[in-house]
Amino acid sequence: MRQTPQIAVVGGGPAGLMAAERLARAGLSVDLYDAMPSVGRKFLLAGKGGLNLTHSEDAARFVARYGAQQGVVAGWLARLDAQGVRDWAEGLGVATFVGTSGRVFPADMKAAPLLRGWLHRLREAGVRLHMRHRWTGWAGDGSLQFDAPTGPVQTRPAATVLALGGASWPRLGSDAAWLPLLAARQVAITPLAAANCGFDLQPTPRAQDGAGWSAHFAERFAGQPFKSVALRCADGQGGWFARKGEFVATATGIEGSLVYAASRLLREEIARTGQAQLWLDLLPDRTPEQVLAACRHPRGARSLSSHLKSRLALDGIKLALLHEVLAPETLHDPAALAQAIKAVPLQLAAPRPVAEAISTAGGVALDALDAGLMLQALPGVFCAGEMLDWEAPTGGYLLTACMASGVVAAEGVLAHLQQA
Ligand SMILES: Cc1cc2nc3c(=O)[nH]c(=O)nc-3n(C[C@H](O)[C@H](O)[C@H](O)COP(=O)(O)OP(=O)(O)OC[C@H]3O[C@@H](n4cnc5c(N)ncnc54)[C@H](O)[C@@H]3O)c2cc1C
Repeated sequence: MRQTPQIAVVGGGPAGLMAAERLARAGLSVDLYDAMPSVGRKFLLAGKGGLNLTHSEDAARFVARYGAQQGVVAGWLARLDAQGVRDWAEGLGVATFVGTSGRVFPADMKAAPLLRGWLHRLREAGVRLHMRHRWTGWAGDGSLQFDAPTGPVQTRPAATVLALGGASWPRLGSDAAWLPLLAARQVAITPLAAANCGFDLQPTPRAQDGAGWSAHFAERFAGQPFKSVALRCADGQGGWFARKGEFVATATGIEGSLVYAASRLLREEIARTGQAQLWLDLLPDRTPEQVLAACRHPRGARSLSSHLKSRLALDGIKLALLHEVLAPETLHDPAALAQAIKAVPLQLAAPRPVAEAISTAGGVALDALDAGLMLQALPGVFCAGEMLDWEAPTGGYLLTACMASGVVAAEGVLAHLQQA
């Protein structure tokens, strides 16, 4: 009798779990290893703010979200697309819905019921889960080595899928300790960088001691939202990125969904020139003419602050921002002030560290892999998920590509075994 090939999947995030499921379903014997006491910790965290599984926009727009890597990611999405992700959730008994922004969520917005159902189905399919098994590299004979609670463990599978995640939120398990292990095996790796991240500011005119905001602004407004503003920055190709949305002030800068959406452009601008410039429209629903008329309206004995509050509803953090970055002469010149309200300049100094980011850019270079996601340098070793060199904005694009690449790696393993 021929023995069923044994496959090791290392990393139990969405990419690894999807690979394990497809391999087990194909009749292979699957062992899944994870360094943490339980799998899917980042997936569960993603569920805390409302799990955004995927997006409902048309396929062409969807794939364009992967920027420079869209050509390769399109191949993954051909194996599991947005509808495929929704079907997968439905298959686990979790209905999905399209939110007002086009984003797709589970009906209860949570990740835990999905993960519970998924693990149940994986165990039923025969996948063996080995928790607290930290992969530390290869032994001389090619075996995988793990640090486990009982001591060192070695195994020599017929094929291995590495789905070890990026470098964001390392306390949830993905700490990129894989990077030197693969680099030592001549695997090309694009340096890791923060994606969907916050930024530190260059000191504003009121800031002291090299800090981003003045102490007064940071104390009063760190953690507070800029609601319904528009952000504009150069798109690096001679055009502009401009979008409406929200973000928050931090102690040293800015973060939040609108900033994340522009973060790749801002990060690349900083890498090119040492800083990045953006402009905020504090009143995107008012025309420049309306703002100018309000600024020019005689204010009598009223202070500038109460004038702006009563005529333009500018107060709180928006008003404080004007005082933080504008020169006194701009504040008191109605035309210059009106212009500034529609385009407050902010200079960014650096992205926040990747450990704080939502996701990771960079990783295993896509041309280090074949179409089945097998490493050219290490036949029989496949990679999937965020550890690969692609990035995307938030909106469900991260989970979709992670799961889709898990499917492609599993199919790559099957093709490889067949060939062998
Ligand atoms: C706060 C937050 C919210 C998010 N919300 C969303 C969202 O709503 N929608 C969306 O699309 N994306 C979201 N994401 C991103 C998404 O969660 C990740 O892109 C996705 O989890 C990456 O999947 P992965 O399987 O590649 O890696 P991970 O989920 O990071 O899993 C990697 C696994 O590998 C294990 N591992 C690492 N190194 C080793 C080792 N040496 N040995 C053994 N095991 C190891 C880790 O313990 C971990 O379990 C969010 C991320 C964050 C931080």
